[in-house]
Amino acid sequence: MNSFTKEIMQKDKDHFMHPWTIFDVYKTDGALPIETAQGNYLEDTDGNRYLDAVGGLWCNNIGTGRKEMADAIAEQVIKMSYANPFVDMTNVPATLLAAKIAELAPGSLNHVFYSCGGSTAVDTAYRLIQYYQNCRGKHAKKHIISRDMSYHGSTYAAMSIGGKKGDHPAEFDFIDDTIHHITAPKQYGQHEDKSEAEFLNFLLNELEQKILTLGADNVAAFFAEPIMGAGGVIIPPVGYHKKTWEICKKHDVLYVSDEVVTGFGRLGHWFASEDVFDIQPDIIISAKGLTSGYLPLGATIFSDQIWDEISEDGHGRCFAHGFTYSGHPVACAAALKNIEIMEREQLLENVTTLAPYFKAKLETLSDLPIVGDIRGHGFMWCVEFVANKETCELFPEEMDIGKQISNHADAKGLIVRPVVHLNVMSPPLTLNKTEIDFIVNTLRVSIEATLIDLEEQGYH
Ligand code: PMP
Repeated sequence: MNSFTKEIMQKDKDHFMHPWTIFDVYKTDGALPIETAQGNYLEDTDGNRYLDAVGGLWCNNIGTGRKEMADAIAEQVIKMSYANPFVDMTNVPATLLAAKIAELAPGSLNHVFYSCGGSTAVDTAYRLIQYYQNCRGKHAKKHIISRDMSYHGSTYAAMSIGGKKGDHPAEFDFIDDTIHHITAPKQYGQHEDKSEAEFLNFLLNELEQKILTLGADNVAAFFAEPIMGAGGVIIPPVGYHKKTWEICKKHDVLYVSDEVVTGFGRLGHWFASEDVFDIQPDIIISAKGLTSGYLPLGATIFSDQIWDEISEDGHGRCFAHGFTYSGHPVACAAALKNIEIMEREQLLENVTTLAPYFKAKLETLSDLPIVGDIRGHGFMWCVEFVANKETCELFPEEMDIGKQISNHADAKGLIVRPVVHLNVMSPPLTLNKTEIDFIVNTLRVSIEATLIDLEEQGYH
C-alpha cells in the first residue's frame, strides 16, 4: 500500500461516513479507494485494476470516462448550468429529456417529474399517489402494499416502502401504519414445497386478500421492482407481474413499477415492465441507468390518467412538491447524451445477444458444492451460496459468505457485489464475451479459494 493510499484511507475513516457502513468492520478494514475509471474498469490508488461487474451500483450502463459525456456536460455547463425549474420557468434539456422518456416509456406514461435519484423519485411517487387519490375524492385510499425483501431507497417514505428486514432496524422509525409488506416472490430456498404454479397462486391470493382485508377503498397503490435488485435478484414466477397488475386494476389500486435498476437497458429494453413483463404500470420510477451514473437524476414517470385528474381545469390546484434540482439542465443533458450513446451503439441489443451466453457461462458454476442457485435476466445476475445444496440451508449470516468470496474476487481484479449469501452482478451494458469469461472464471477460483478457507475454519 503506497503512502497516498494510506493517507486517503485514514482521511476517509476520519471524515467520510459512507452509506450503509458497518462501523466495526469499517473502522478496521476501511474502504477501497478508487482513483480512476475507464470503460468497464476501475483502478485504485495503488494502481490495481478491476473489472467492475457491478456497474458502479447497478448504474453504470455505458461504461465510465467517456469523453463524449464529458463534452456534453461541459457544453451544458458553459451554455447554462442552472435555471429555476419551479412554477413558470423551464430549461431545454429537461424538456427534451421528458419528451424522450415519454417516447420510450410504455403506454400512456407521458409525464415526468424529476428528482435527484431513485429514493427521491420513490418519495415523489408516494406523494403523487396521495395527491391523486385525494384529488379524485378517494380520501381513504392511503394504504400502500409492498413486498418483503424489496428495496425502494433510503429517504423516509422510500425506506418504509422497502421490505428488507435488515433495513428496518429498531434504531429507526418507519411509516408502519399505512405501509404493508407481503411475501417476496422468491421460491428458491423458501417455498420449495410448492410447484411454481402453486407458489404463484399463493402470492396472488395473498395480494388480493391483503387488498380485501384492508378494504379496496383504503388501498392506494402497490409497489414492485420488476426483478428485485438489492433483495437478491429475485425473479418472480412466470405471470406474476401480469396477474398482480390485473388484481390491482380490478381493485382500483395504482401499480408502481420501480425500475431504478431494471430501466434503461439492464434487461435489454428501455423499460422491463412492458417489454419483459407485459404490463403498463400507472407509474414507473427511474434513476441510475438514466444517466449511467455520470450525474445524479431521478424520474417519476406517470400516466395521462393521473395527469388529467390532478391537473383538471378549474380547481386551481398546485402539486406542492419539488426540488431545487428537479430537471437540472446539466444532469438532463447527460441523460440525453447517455440515451443517444445507447441507441447509437445498440447497447440494448448487446444485452439481449449476450445474456444467453452470460447465463450459460454462469451455470457452469453449479458443480461447485456451495453454489445453490444462479438466477437473473439480461445483465442482472446473482449466485446464491448455500451450506447444503440438498436442503438449501444457508451459511450463518455472521459468516458473510458473499463477502468472503468477493474479497477473493477483489484480489483477482473482479468487483462483484456481496449481499450476505449472494454475489450480485450488473455490469455495464458494453460488456463483451471475453469479459464474461473473465467474470465467471474469476468467480470460480474465488469460490474455490473460499472452499479452502472454509476447510481451514473447520466448516464442512
Ligand atoms: N429503487 C431501487 C429498486 C433501487 O435499487 C434503488 C437503489 N439501489 C433505489 C430505489 C434508490 O435509488 P437511489 O440510491 O438513487 O436513491
